[in-house]
Amino acid sequence: MGMNNKVALVTGASRGIGKAIAIELAKNGANVVINYLEDDQAANEVVKIIKSFNVEAISVRADVGDPDQVEAMAKVIEEKFEYVDILVNNAGVIKRPGEWDLIAFSDIDETINTNLKGPIFCMRQFVPKMILNKFGRIINITSTYGITGAAGVLVYTAAKAGVVNITHSMARELGKYNITVNAIAPGNIDTRMTSSAGEDFKKWVENTSPIPRLGTPQEVAEAAMYLINSQYVSGHVLTVDGGHILNM
Ligand code: NAP
Repeated sequence: MGMNNKVALVTGASRGIGKAIAIELAKNGANVVINYLEDDQAANEVVKIIKSFNVEAISVRADVGDPDQVEAMAKVIEEKFEYVDILVNNAGVIKRPGEWDLIAFSDIDETINTNLKGPIFCMRQFVPKMILNKFGRIINITSTYGITGAAGVLVYTAAKAGVVNITHSMARELGKYNITVNAIAPGNIDTRMTSSAGEDFKKWVENTSPIPRLGTPQEVAEAAMYLINSQYVSGHVLTVDGGHILNM
């Protein structure tokens, strides 16, 4: 599928996996909206990189876990691009309380709001125009933890399991409108999210993964391009984890 003149919104694209997907979309000719939460400077840097591929780009600060902010973001996008063809629900947070029962209530809310409600709010906001246009590509970023569960990150795994489920449900709803809905389940990717887990975590990945290293954001971005380009793959959850899930 040519991405020329398509408009993509990537949430949480100021760094990490979202940034890599946004840049890969731009390389393939898409205009890109960079959503982020806090880091204006990093988001503007991504916009600059994207414009160097001769496509259009804007950054929009919005908390995807707040429906009012998602609506406000849509207004900004509509003024510039009218609608979104490709939605990548990537923004995510993880809280590591140590023990499963020590997670703060506020962290439970932030984790569910960002990781699970965020994709729901964004789909609710941007899918109606995809239906009118009879075209759309949706990629939801879940996690292998959303498939297997994981000790110590109970709420994150619950939110990511929900992302798998909304992917399946929306694929059922939207196929008839030429809209595909897929998920990517990264394993352990080298970003700020994993660096916060420390060196022992990195060693554990190296010792337990068939491909004995962390993955790169670029490797996830390439998987996203495959799913976005496909006309007939929908409702799929693609693990990008060096085979780690086999040992979990
Ligand atoms: P990251 O480096 O921590 O980046 C997170 C991005 O999300 C940042 O751009 C951040 O923006 C943005 N963000 C956070 N909360 C937001 C909110 N409420 N609204 C809008 N944007 C928000 O994370 P990453 O490792 O690239 O992870 C990306 C996705 O992959 C997440 O969904 C994560 O759960 C998933 N994942 C990652 C791994 C991994 O190993 N890294 C594994 C499995 C799944 P600001 O910096 O501007 O605040």
